[in-house]
Amino acid sequence: MYCYDFHVVLQEVPGEVSLCFTISGCPLRCEGCHSPFLWKEGSGRLLTFATYKDILYRYRGFATCVLFMGGEWHPNTLADFLKYAQETGYATCLYTGLNAVPESLARYLTWIKTGPWDASRGGLGSPDTNQRFTEVATQKNLNHLFHKKTRL
Ligand code: SF4
Repeated sequence: MYCYDFHVVLQEVPGEVSLCFTISGCPLRCEGCHSPFLWKEGSGRLLTFATYKDILYRYRGFATCVLFMGGEWHPNTLADFLKYAQETGYATCLYTGLNAVPESLARYLTWIKTGPWDASRGGLGSPDTNQRFTEVATQKNLNHLFHKKTRL
């Protein structure tokens, strides 16, 4: 898997400090995609297992979750990476444009964001969104965690 970029993020998984790996090669081609630079397989740097392990080790005790933006098109590699994250004490999350992923991936996920980008319906913060943020173990929809609180 090639990683286009890596950041520590605070908003994408509510309540978690997440190590966010953005994977290149997205085959979905959503109309109005906000990140078409991710379509080309091989963009960025090869994310070796050794590099990945080193990053997870360095952030232990600070970060709490490992988040993949895409990568489900490398199901075996992604499953291995997620499994390792769980074994080392991290929660895990995948943002995918698919509406579902195989059980071989879902079993290593704490949360999943599903659904393609649809500009007319907006992202997770929109009440009209087609996307869904799910707690995998319970299948609970947690979209409400992304809605902005209005002040009275
Ligand atoms: S899933 Fe995301 S990166 Fe892939 S085409 Fe859709 S909006 Fe773009």
